[in-house]
Amino acid sequence: MAAQRIWIKNPLAVFTPEGIDGRGGLVIENQQIVEVLASGHSPSAPCDEIKDAAQHVVLPGLINTHHHFYQTLTRAWAPVVNQPLFPWLKTLYPVWARLRPEALALASQVAMAELLLSGCTTASDHHYLFPEGMEEAIDIQVEVVKQLGMRALLTRGSMSLGEEQGGLPPQQTVQSGEAILEDSLRLIRRYHQRGAGAQIQIALAPCSPFSVTEEIMTESARLATQEDVRLHTHLAETLDEEQFCLERFGLRTVDYLEKVGWLGPRSWLAHGIHFNADEIRRLGAAGTGICHCPVSNMRLASGICPTLDLEAAGAPVGLGVDGSASNDASNLMYETRQALYLQRLRYGAERITPQKVLGWATRGSAQLLGRSDIGELRPGMQADLAMFRLDELRFSGSHDPIAALILCGAERADYVMIAGKWRVVAGAIPDMDLDSLIARHRAAASALIG
Ligand SMILES: [Zn+2]
Repeated sequence: MAAQRIWIKNPLAVFTPEGIDGRGGLVIENQQIVEVLASGHSPSAPCDEIKDAAQHVVLPGLINTHHHFYQTLTRAWAPVVNQPLFPWLKTLYPVWARLRPEALALASQVAMAELLLSGCTTASDHHYLFPEGMEEAIDIQVEVVKQLGMRALLTRGSMSLGEEQGGLPPQQTVQSGEAILEDSLRLIRRYHQRGAGAQIQIALAPCSPFSVTEEIMTESARLATQEDVRLHTHLAETLDEEQFCLERFGLRTVDYLEKVGWLGPRSWLAHGIHFNADEIRRLGAAGTGICHCPVSNMRLASGICPTLDLEAAGAPVGLGVDGSASNDASNLMYETRQALYLQRLRYGAERITPQKVLGWATRGSAQLLGRSDIGELRPGMQADLAMFRLDELRFSGSHDPIAALILCGAERADYVMIAGKWRVVAGAIPDMDLDSLIARHRAAASALIG
């Protein structure tokens, strides 16, 4: 059978790597981008489908590098609306401990659908809740990923340090180190795909210094190296956490990270706010990635990630919406806009451009997930892209199309392609009954709160 060729023709604007003119559009063959055409150029061979993009701004598919899908069930919950991280967690843990398989499936569908409609094509989730009856949480998420046709890096999270051992989470939410490592290995062997074009991958993700034992950090790093998968955790999110590390381990967060064997290019960290200059230098030298989560950091008043300093030191930076109990949106375009504004407060207007934050949401995020086949529009890359229209009221009177997406606040993609297949068409996910999903998800959210 001949290859299926699609021409995304003459886009209004296209976000290509610097120096590549893509105004003639992109040619997709099967799962890959095979040609990026300069203005006035045509494909080198006939195409089966021509998608006229004259009204569209084309971006690489956005990549989300930190989320907790299950938290869509506890958005805007009054008892925690005005709390910072530690009390916020302490209030939510007992609610989350009641999570059941059907509710997680609905929560994952809602989070992924919302991400997809915002132009996100690859999502990472950090799931660390495995109370009794939830042993197959990641297996449930794998099924949802397949339904939506997105790419996902599902991290097998863990909590092993309960209140009785001086940790933060309640005892019924933690597992033994043995159970965690055994399940981690099972998931890697069963689901982790390798190489270009992978749809589903697994990483290991002890939740945070205050919810796992030192042993599980060390053993997770050992297992990740043995199996060649990535490592993820929350780090340096708040000063409470820094204080916890000093009291329990006698170490600052990055010293602890180094001690447990995590300071290297295999790891990426959510938040990464409270670092001193020496720590930034060491993270950069190690090539450890940082996922910036601006909305969560603003909502919980945690602080501002030193993104440009980390990058200058050599640490890749990407973006994440974080869990929906601290955002509470799963919209990566919205997050990208917030990254621009929050980072301008730290680094000034000249250095934080729309191109800069879009780079974090695409190429930067791909680096965090260890992928070189997604995140950019150039020949040889996977055909993952998002197309936005600029004819809504909010864009009227705008001039520069790429700047308009960010500054006027684009929130919903019109078309999204993943691995050469259309997964959003005319602003909707084909075959998905959103009204029904919302009704079932709302009922599950009410039941969880009790
Ligand atoms: Zn998080």
